[in-house]
Amino acid sequence: TKLIRLDKLLGHSGEGTRKEIKHLCKSGSVTINGSVCVNPATKVDFEKNVVAVDGRPVFYTPFHYVMLHKPENILSATRDHFSKTVLDLLPPCYKGTGMFPVGRLDKDTTGLLLLTNDGDWAHRITSPKKEINKIYEAVVAGTIPDDINFQFQRGIVLTDGFLCQPAVAEKIGDYTLRIIIHEGKFHQIKRMCAAVGLTVTALRRMQIGQLILDETLHYGEIRILTEEERKLPF
Ligand code: URA
Repeated sequence: TKLIRLDKLLGHSGEGTRKEIKHLCKSGSVTINGSVCVNPATKVDFEKNVVAVDGRPVFYTPFHYVMLHKPENILSATRDHFSKTVLDLLPPCYKGTGMFPVGRLDKDTTGLLLLTNDGDWAHRITSPKKEINKIYEAVVAGTIPDDINFQFQRGIVLTDGFLCQPAVAEKIGDYTLRIIIHEGKFHQIKRMCAAVGLTVTALRRMQIGQLILDETLHYGEIRILTEEERKLPF
């Protein structure tokens, strides 16, 4: 169906929270085809009707792209019986839109996580064939070997015998590493670090391809990707 509630359409377009949007409507700022509409529950046809806020047209697509600053103790899944998931952090206007996380971060990993309902776009980012770099910062316990970058570039062998693709590990503090990988195996960074005698005590993803975590986002906050960000070739 091409029909959607006005407040949902405005929410997906980044016009504010549900409450803010309600006020926006009540204040007479919102028009549908040029006529003021004060009822946020009005159904609009997003293909045929022009919605505007203070005369500025709002463009709607059924696909949504957001970045989340993932906090700890949140699962990168769409539903779980016991734990909160990243979908629980989306504003209510995304209910029923089919949003899902693009790849996964461990429950205790923080940082950049993308959410979308565009399967093709997600696939372009997660497909192993695309070899999209992911940049992490890891706080580790143990002594960082002097030749860690050499070991990572040569290819780390995990304890189960799996040979990792060449990666980068740069020491950026006494106990902090900046690690770049393009694979995404289960617990990959933690297991790569374990293979060189290090225990990861905190892990945060900073970047996916060219897309950088917005440092102004607090834990648990989301923002809609800009058009430039969404169109990145990653
Ligand atoms: N590597 C890990 O070990 N955990 C993550 O969440 C991401 C990469």
